[in-house]
Amino acid sequence: MISIELSARQRRILEIVKQNGPITGDKIAEMLGLTRATLRADLAILTMSGFLEARPRVGYFYAGDRGKTVWQNRLRQLTVHMFKAPPVVVEEHKSVQEAIVTLFLEDVGTLYIIGKDRLLSGVVSRKDLLRAVHGHKNLEDIPVGMIMTRMPNIVTVTPEESLFDAAQKLLEYQVDSLPVVVPKDTGRFHFEVVGRFTKTTVTRAFVALGKDDLFDDGL
Ligand code: ADP
Repeated sequence: MISIELSARQRRILEIVKQNGPITGDKIAEMLGLTRATLRADLAILTMSGFLEARPRVGYFYAGDRGKTVWQNRLRQLTVHMFKAPPVVVEEHKSVQEAIVTLFLEDVGTLYIIGKDRLLSGVVSRKDLLRAVHGHKNLEDIPVGMIMTRMPNIVTVTPEESLFDAAQKLLEYQVDSLPVVVPKDTGRFHFEVVGRFTKTTVTRAFVALGKDDLFDDGL
């Protein structure tokens, strides 16, 4: 599927949708002087391979970027929502000691810290905790909020963002983990934490893509 070669007719369909989209299948058939049934397989291939997007009752949109391969277009359709893991959160007033225990119990590398309002207030990584252990004696007495990286300096992703963009953020900001958040309308940096996106998430997606079961699901 990835090394797909488009037929002359499929390329014509793409041109039509590019210029006229959103456009229904019937209208495309009419413009090409073909029956809808003849077009069905072409439209299915173009949709599955990410060139076109079909919206019920609206029609076909052009989704593929000219300069990108089928593979690249498919990859950009995978969202954070499809792969995110549950978040592991700790309240800001909890101690560094408790944070370390949570890190081990939950088997994660990064904890998301929430404030009294239950919204994201910071992030604590392994190194942050190591640094705290190195510098202090009474880990029960230090609130995790004191050692965390705080909002608004937290790099986040939303569930709708593409897996590709999220993976790029991991590299660009050189962090292991991004809280998956839903912005609240109560304020500019008010984020509800709904998931975690880590280097492991990307690895899992990579393996799933190799098995090809994502594409077979009609995603
Ligand atoms: P580690 O410390 O285990 O190497 P990271 O590279 O993810 O893990 O963290 C490096 C630093 O960046 C830490 O101080 C951490 O608090 C901070 N950090 C981690 N994730 C984020 C994020 N999503 N946004 C902003 N800062 C982060």
